[in-house]
Amino acid sequence: MQLRTDIEIAREARKLPILEIGAKLGIPPEDLVPYGHDKAKVAQHFIRGLADRPDGKLILVTAINPTPAGEGKTTTTVGLGDGLNRIGKQAVICIREASLGPNFGMKGGAAGGGMAQIVPMEEMNLHFTGDFHAITAAHNLLAAMIDNHIYWGNALEIDARRIVWRRVMDMNDRALRDVVVNLGGVSNGFPRQTGFDITVASEVMAILCLARDLDDLEQRLGNIVVAYRRDRSPVFCRDLKADGAMAVLLRDAMQPNLVQTLENNPAFVHGGPFANIAHGCNSVIATTTALKLADYVVTEAGFGADLGAEKFFDIKCRKAGLKPSAAVIVATVRAMKMNGGVAKADLGREDVEAVRRGCANLGRHIANTRGFGIPVVVALNHFTGDTEAELQAVRDYVAGLGTEAILCRHWAEGSAGIEDLARRVVELAEGPSSFAPLYPDDMPLFEKMETIARRIYHADEVIAEPAIREQLRVWEEAGYGALPVCMAKTQYSFTTDPSVRGAPTGHVIPLREVRLSAGAGFVVAICGEIMTMPGLPQTPAAEVIRLNAAGQVEGLF
Ligand code: ADP
Ligand code: MG
Repeated sequence: MQLRTDIEIAREARKLPILEIGAKLGIPPEDLVPYGHDKAKVAQHFIRGLADRPDGKLILVTAINPTPAGEGKTTTTVGLGDGLNRIGKQAVICIREASLGPNFGMKGGAAGGGMAQIVPMEEMNLHFTGDFHAITAAHNLLAAMIDNHIYWGNALEIDARRIVWRRVMDMNDRALRDVVVNLGGVSNGFPRQTGFDITVASEVMAILCLARDLDDLEQRLGNIVVAYRRDRSPVFCRDLKADGAMAVLLRDAMQPNLVQTLENNPAFVHGGPFANIAHGCNSVIATTTALKLADYVVTEAGFGADLGAEKFFDIKCRKAGLKPSAAVIVATVRAMKMNGGVAKADLGREDVEAVRRGCANLGRHIANTRGFGIPVVVALNHFTGDTEAELQAVRDYVAGLGTEAILCRHWAEGSAGIEDLARRVVELAEGPSSFAPLYPDDMPLFEKMETIARRIYHADEVIAEPAIREQLRVWEEAGYGALPVCMAKTQYSFTTDPSVRGAPTGHVIPLREVRLSAGAGFVVAICGEIMTMPGLPQTPAAEVIRLNAAGQVEGLF
């Protein structure tokens, strides 16, 4: 059992110079752009030269519905990457970058935990290589150009009441959710109401994460719908001629960031779109680059498999032509107990019956994920208090479904604790995979939403006001009908009620709003309260974050 905190372990890491990590992947020093000694971007021209190489195998790490007990997807993603390297396979990890703002509220780090972490942890949770700042700047340049265009006569006839492009900042700041801009008289423009979202909710973030290369990036930026005219016709980013300058701001941010695990194995940490109004996985360019450089690429999707894996398959894999070879579903005894009705305060007590009841949630995620045509194995992430009888209950349940739950001790032991899972993943990935997305491109948009609701959430139906269905029809006529849909729904339940755990059936999914992300290339289906600018809690973590006498960061995580 390890008693040190994540940050203490991370600080003691024996990091290799980043050029040596690059060398492990065959990246020549001149094709790395170092940001200090332990971070580097992979040069765009090197990536272009990889096109003809064969691809490695892509492994997705996903999970049951998240509970306050914690599951450990990132920790398991990192552990599995280290585990594969340990058994002699060449493996790279691909995960998202962390958002800066939430660290000062209450969120923990996003770089794994225990002995399965990616470093340098503090920097990855703060400014890192500046990607999110670049995204913030590109997003706000477009916002500035919209108000400026109206100020100088509004030749595009933008209806100021129908501007859909807001501003962004990487900070939890509820004061900015709704604001009035252009106050102060004639020389400041026409007052109008708008608001701020957190940077990870920006469509520019989703675009950066789905773009294949710089040309595709610029093309997609141009496609953003920023506003509508009085006749409801869309005004595009391209009409404002902002796309070129935005691409300039994003050029460096488009290059994947290379860092390392505590065990000195390579990891790409790049991009971080929201997992509700966007698709919640690291950039396509990081994943496709990693697949050219390694035999195995282990990646993570946000939230549980119902939201995260579904979007990974139906949005990212579909659009980037990726073919995952296997999926790992992370489960814990503690989360099974919570799904079985045990309160968080009582998790310390052995309760085999509750574990059995809670397994229904895991079972549904296994079946759903297999439905995409890929083999599935369960990573049973070991927590110190788990009892043998509880662990066996999960193993027995999963064996009954024809797969395996493998006990993993990577949090406590690093790669030595996850060899069994690594070996099993290799076997599965060697076997047949017949990956296919859930629905075809040409299915009508509403039917796509119904298909996800029925097949993944096991709901009876999706209900929507006629105005919403009409909006979808208008977008289909305008040529957006072939886009995939991005479900924005609570991550805690298969229903739209976060308190309903387990594997419910017979519920209804109310569709409240639809949004078009024409640049990213999906239609967002909003089924519940979705917060795009978080606030800080009563006692924000920021109050205890400080520099110690040695100049080190204290209190983060
Ligand atoms: P996710 O990616 O699912 O949100 P993380 O991997 O980031 O979860 O883990 C969340 C927190 O749980 C981290 O602080 C991590 O250190 C902790 N954690 C993960 N696995 C374990 C474990 N086996 N024992 C104790 N703590 C763990
Ligand atoms: Mg995570």
